[in-house]
Amino acid sequence: MEDDCYGLCVTPEHFEQHLRVIRDRFNPMSLSDLGDSLHSGRLPDRSVCVTFDDGYSDNLLVAKPLLEAYGVPATVFVTSGRSGRDREFWWDELQGLFLSSGDLPETLELEINGERRTWNLGQSQADSGAPPWCLLDPEDLTNAPTARHRVLGEIYSLIRPMRDREQWAVLDQLQSWSGGRPMVRPVVRAMELEETVTLSSGGLIEVGGHTINHPFLGLLSEEEQRQEILEGKQDLERALGRRVRAFAFPFGHYNETTLGILEASEFEYACTCIPQEVRLDSPALLLPRRGVGDWDGDRLALELEYLVRPARTRLLERLHLA
Ligand SMILES: [Zn+2]
Repeated sequence: MEDDCYGLCVTPEHFEQHLRVIRDRFNPMSLSDLGDSLHSGRLPDRSVCVTFDDGYSDNLLVAKPLLEAYGVPATVFVTSGRSGRDREFWWDELQGLFLSSGDLPETLELEINGERRTWNLGQSQADSGAPPWCLLDPEDLTNAPTARHRVLGEIYSLIRPMRDREQWAVLDQLQSWSGGRPMVRPVVRAMELEETVTLSSGGLIEVGGHTINHPFLGLLSEEEQRQEILEGKQDLERALGRRVRAFAFPFGHYNETTLGILEASEFEYACTCIPQEVRLDSPALLLPRRGVGDWDGDRLALELEYLVRPARTRLLERLHLA
């Protein structure tokens, strides 16, 4: 989508190039098969697993037909609490408010965590001519192209660690400030739970857990974490009529309590956002995972070749570059 300020999107054209590279030059594998391989101590060379987080409807509408055309398995980690709610993910609504709205009031006043905060946006407009900007990139964050981008970045950082109800209280204040109404844009619509059944039909795509509300798990109490992780799993299992084996940590965030809950659960493996390759000794509940940008096929091939090379070669390369 335009203004992908979280660096989450890959165009269908690039995704198809990725699939061609993975099919022709690597060994596409499902996460279940990876889990079984780790268990048996034999990991085929050049194996690649494809995963998607959050459960956007384009995983079903756009990615599934392409995955099937290329025969590449994938796992989609679904946030179960979005189903049946007529709001976007809070971060998408925030992006829409600041980067897709017309005129906005020049001053923004919000009550956040019981404190009144004020921002001055001046007459800043959403500048669609601005170069790609990612607020998760610290350098971009300090070099925001417009006041709207800067304020978006600041409010994102304030909202992200909050609990679900507090997050929506801030979004509601922002909606009435902007004079807009919440709406769900098709490009960022989350799947309904019933759609996960269609998604997983045919057997090439697995559905994994990603909590109910996508919280920063490590900041929640043990009880809250258990509810987010286990009830999110049950929501999916009820809809799918089958067991959900895999989990992905929202924002890649966890603590010891999170791991204890996963160990005692029926989840067999869990994906982090630690950008490394999986090895035979990788812990099943802390599998590393490399994010993929909106790259062309050649760039993906380079990134994957780097990951599948023996670690010793990689270290030497780094020494030479240093
Ligand atoms: Zn996520």
